Amino acid sequence: MDKHSRIYLAGHRGLVGGAILRRLQQLGHTQILTRTHRELDLCSQVQVEQFFEQERPAYVILAAARVGGILANSTYPAQFLYDNLMIAANVIQASYRYGVTKLLNLGSSCIYPKLAPQPLKEEYLLTGPLEPTNRAYAVAKIAAIELCDHYRAQYGCDFISAMPTNLYGPGDNFDLQTSHVLPALLRKVLEAKQTGATTVTVWGSGNPRREFLYVDDLAAACLFLLEHFSGPGPVNVGTGEDLRIRELALTIQEVVGYKGSLVFDSTKPDGTPRKLLDVSRLQQSGWQAEIGLKEGIGRTLAWYLASAEVPGC
Ligand code: GDP
Repeated sequence: MDKHSRIYLAGHRGLVGGAILRRLQQLGHTQILTRTHRELDLCSQVQVEQFFEQERPAYVILAAARVGGILANSTYPAQFLYDNLMIAANVIQASYRYGVTKLLNLGSSCIYPKLAPQPLKEEYLLTGPLEPTNRAYAVAKIAAIELCDHYRAQYGCDFISAMPTNLYGPGDNFDLQTSHVLPALLRKVLEAKQTGATTVTVWGSGNPRREFLYVDDLAAACLFLLEHFSGPGPVNVGTGEDLRIRELALTIQEVVGYKGSLVFDSTKPDGTPRKLLDVSRLQQSGWQAEIGLKEGIGRTLAWYLASAEVPGC
């Protein structure tokens, strides 16, 4: 990708889009096209067509989506399905019509079948029933991957899909009710240190295993794939390593410098026992995550302290 190529980044305000924007800027790209939701409604075919006709991007990164936790997904399934289908269909079709050189579509590891074996390989997609609580979201994201593959097969478009694991980093959601485990525990441990609390509550048994990728590593992987990968099917993006929630909590304690003890709340659900991606396809193409968990947690903490005007520790 030339430094002066016109790159349309859809979803630049989200966790993933924000990291990709930072990366593109660091690399010195001069023609990064962004639009807020207000400026461009990606669910509107007319607006998307007009935007592509006027702006003529050479590259498209599709990081825009309606996202949410288990509660939002199960309360608003029609909106999750409709919005994500429309966003994907409009952006992918316009990319084809206006001759985009390459498009990268962002999937998600939660669209693999609920009971697929671990580590999750790309070919397990569409081999079994989905997790019912996020089925609407998953069906739309799977449709986006299928669109990329079929536009490749029928029209010869170079459209690819990346499948990220659990992400964390600057821009994450720290709301204790709706966030994922890493920002939730980071906030809880920080607040316990600040208030002098002697314990921190961890949901569930602490035994489930999860993989965590720092979002700037994902951004690097996305740009690597844009440059070096062409082919059908999604490419998993992760570290290839997982750890127990208990170990995650201890690592966060160490980074924050909190000496209290952990209490496990068995009234809260554990969820799936393990979620780990098989990243051999990505590694074979020559990319590997660089930011270790401790470093990533440290950077996320620094961002959180600065952005939320949280008193330092
Ligand atoms: P999941 O990966 O889709 O299951 O989503 P989460 O990130 O919300 O949860 C991952 C694991 O972390 C589950 O076993 C949770 O019970 C556990 N966990 C421990 N403490 C917390 C917490 O404070 N918040 C959240 N969201 N999960 C927690």
